[in-house]
Amino acid sequence: MRKFTLYRSVEGVAIWTTRGYQGASYNADMRFHTIIVGVIAMLSIAAHAIPMRSCGAYVAKIPNVKPQLCEAAQLQDMQARSVQGRPIWGRDMPSDGADLKILVLGGIHGDEMSSSSLVFHWIAMAQTAHATAPLAVHWRFIPSLNPDGLFARPARRVNARGVDLNRNFPTPNWARDARHYWEARTRKDPRRWPGSKPLSEPESRFLLEQMDSFKPNLIVSVHAPFGLLDFDGPSVPPNKLGRLYLDQVGIYPGSLGNYGGIHKGVPVVTIELPSASRTPTDGEMRQMWADLLRWTSDRLGPGISTAAEHLPKQH
Ligand SMILES: [Zn+2]
Repeated sequence: MRKFTLYRSVEGVAIWTTRGYQGASYNADMRFHTIIVGVIAMLSIAAHAIPMRSCGAYVAKIPNVKPQLCEAAQLQDMQARSVQGRPIWGRDMPSDGADLKILVLGGIHGDEMSSSSLVFHWIAMAQTAHATAPLAVHWRFIPSLNPDGLFARPARRVNARGVDLNRNFPTPNWARDARHYWEARTRKDPRRWPGSKPLSEPESRFLLEQMDSFKPNLIVSVHAPFGLLDFDGPSVPPNKLGRLYLDQVGIYPGSLGNYGGIHKGVPVVTIELPSASRTPTDGEMRQMWADLLRWTSDRLGPGISTAAEHLPKQH
């Protein structure tokens, strides 16, 4: 497989080239090739994606999301279905010569509605702040990974089969540790059932496929209501996003942070908003976004080693 490395041309335009081209300042053929590959990738996404027809159901369930905000997000069908057959919607926002790819997830737990709302607000910010952002980022947003949990009455943390999706990822020794943790530490809390086997659920399988195909440099996963910031993986963690401060709460068998951050070497920022039913203020959400961009630029920008490529890949 060819290894691609990011360089910058004299004008500061990011170009991707192979390691063998280190001496060349500019390679028109390679640049042309990159553009063509990018256009084909965008067309193939567009061809497969179906725009969301109605925001009504989401607007009714998610706090502080008006129809206009939902419609402006231009969510597309990500070609995945929940257990009950609901589409999983997402927004892919490529950027010319992107320095980084960032996957932002809300609503892994269906009863943490504010987490989905934050993702809608951040989609709007990514749309308007594209030109002024410190880095060119290819964003992918998934506001509601567990739509069956969100639309259950009342909304539920788990998916339609009662599985806590954030315990269903294939961390090492899952069969032993996830079951043991559930029995001994949660006392068989039905809200924390890890499932019968890792990746038993279509929603967790979809997320794993996203990690494998999109290959994000950073995953941001939004939860509620503990009011803190958690971090797993290589790189120096952000110490705050808005008013949320870093408080690394521990490692759970089968969690996304454990799987993505520790075993795949992809930094995972986990945001715990202070309330599941109310969002922070608009100003606070904007400050969190600005802090995320600043930390990303400082710690994950071009030339910063995350050590990810040196970690053993266990999956
Ligand atoms: Zn959660």
